[in-house]
Amino acid sequence: MTSSPSQRLRVLILGGTADANRLTAAVAKDPRIDAVLSYAGRTENPTPPPISWRVGGFGGIDGLADYLRTEQIARVIDATHPFAAQMSAHAVAACAMAAVPLLALERPPWQRVPGDRWIDANDLATAAQSLGSAPRRVFLGIGRQHLKMFAAHPQHAYLVRLVDPPRAPLPLPGAEVIVARGPFDLASDRAMLTSHRIEILVARNAGGDSASAKIDAARDLGLPVVMVRRPFIPAREKVETVAEALRWLGHDETPAARGV
Ligand code: NAP
Repeated sequence: MTSSPSQRLRVLILGGTADANRLTAAVAKDPRIDAVLSYAGRTENPTPPPISWRVGGFGGIDGLADYLRTEQIARVIDATHPFAAQMSAHAVAACAMAAVPLLALERPPWQRVPGDRWIDANDLATAAQSLGSAPRRVFLGIGRQHLKMFAAHPQHAYLVRLVDPPRAPLPLPGAEVIVARGPFDLASDRAMLTSHRIEILVARNAGGDSASAKIDAARDLGLPVVMVRRPFIPAREKVETVAEALRWLGHDETPAARGV
């Protein structure tokens, strides 16, 4: 079955995550869905998706509500990172203003298992403080824009993993930098922590598979992890898997439904 352009469901996917990429790949195969993927523009060379895409902020809640109306968006799926709290809050408000149904695709947080040496922190500033006053070798897998929180604690030796090479000096003098894009695997993260003689990690509880190797490696090595809790996001309808998000869109995964 094919659909005329006017019958196709206009969907905005707020992206920047592996889940958003998986969802995008699935909707690209459904002729009844006309989706656009939105990137914030934080990474330099985002993977070009198989559907139309846009880059950059919408201009706050009003800007997003205008976009939804102008582009005649019928559904929004917020598949942003669980720490992208501002974008997610804006999506809740803008979708309410424009009367567009919103679904969040949010992977579950990582769970502590017996033996884990997690130190919970409500935010990155608290996480930085909880490293203590004695110098330690610290792995930071938290994103370039958050490194400044650790500048107030220069006694530590930091190892930082970034997606893109830094274009300007980092706010952490002397930090060692590894440039790498996930997904990462247990063996290489274990080797990285060992070869750099890391004593403690700082992570945000992102959940999902693409960044979990460092948590598994810390578990294997018996290393403590300062684990930052997820930020508050206003209530919205939520699912955890791409398959559930597709069902919400009315996507049928049978070949006949895809017009094959
Ligand atoms: P944020 O603080 O929640 O958002 C700040 C502003 O950036 C938003 O108000 C919005 O600007 C714009 N924005 C964010 N995501 C956008 C998107 N997908 N499309 C268009 N505009 C977007 O977000 P963040 O934490 O900086 O994250 C930015 C992006 O990186 C997100 O797409 C997220 O999925 C991805 N990401 C974030 C993390 C993380 O740790 N936070 C990790 C991996 C990937 P306007 O107000 O102008 O609309």
